[in-house]
Amino acid sequence: MSVETRTQPAETGTGPTELIRLEGVTKRFGDQTVLDGLDFSVDAGKHVTLIGPSGSGKTTILRLLMTLTRPDEGTVTVDGERLFPAPEKQLREVRKKIGMVFQQFNLFPNMTVLRNITEAPVTVLGLGRDEAEARARELLDLVGLGDKCDARPTRLSGGQQQRVAIARALAMRPKVLLLDEVTSALDPELVAGVLDLLRDIARSTDITMLCVTHEMGFARDISDQVLMFDSGRVIESGPPEKIFGDPEHERTREFLGAVR
Ligand code: ADP
Repeated sequence: MSVETRTQPAETGTGPTELIRLEGVTKRFGDQTVLDGLDFSVDAGKHVTLIGPSGSGKTTILRLLMTLTRPDEGTVTVDGERLFPAPEKQLREVRKKIGMVFQQFNLFPNMTVLRNITEAPVTVLGLGRDEAEARARELLDLVGLGDKCDARPTRLSGGQQQRVAIARALAMRPKVLLLDEVTSALDPELVAGVLDLLRDIARSTDITMLCVTHEMGFARDISDQVLMFDSGRVIESGPPEKIFGDPEHERTREFLGAVR
């Protein structure tokens, strides 16, 4: 295996800038093949949604991009940097470019909301605390929680906690935002507010988004491209109007029939 860790620069002429590329990615847990020779790429600024049944490997892809797990075969490239193998220092640099929002919020319960958002910019990016706080306050205004700076996360509703988690991810000014079923732990009445916020972010920023979601209306609204997964493979992909309006694959039709 080559030890070369840097690929060609992502910028190629006047074409779109490719930010994420997976080539031949296979991931196994024991004798289970979770990702099976997967190929796909995401251009900068695009919003790509991963749909498909539970257990089809969607979350594993986000975890690979966050370098929380490694592929058994194939290559993963983020912003021109090949991830596996790569020295730890390079992985840290790549992680700075990626923000992730989890199903379960994962806020630090012993810190205020403001501190949750400023912690990584200060410790990882080296921002001054004043600058980090100013940015955090702007982001809290953006997510509609400007008055909650001093609250503890546990005093907030699930929807509010998820908004803080979104602000925390954006505070790192990532190039890519990974969203892993971010509304599936929320009470039903809180889902729409969080999805509206994400729609706004998709519309008003140039951030690249890779979302795993079961919210098909949301996927239809924000996606440039939808990838339908089954058993660790992309069985169908295309613009949302095609995937939701006229899917080719029987498995896609079945899945959409079940989740709608
Ligand atoms: P999805 O996000 O599509 O629901 P996942 O990527 O979470 O699918 O999981 C795909 C499969 O991999 C599932 O069968 C899951 O049980 C398995 N899996 C995920 N992580 C691990 C792990 N750390 N150890 C063993 N099996 C795992």
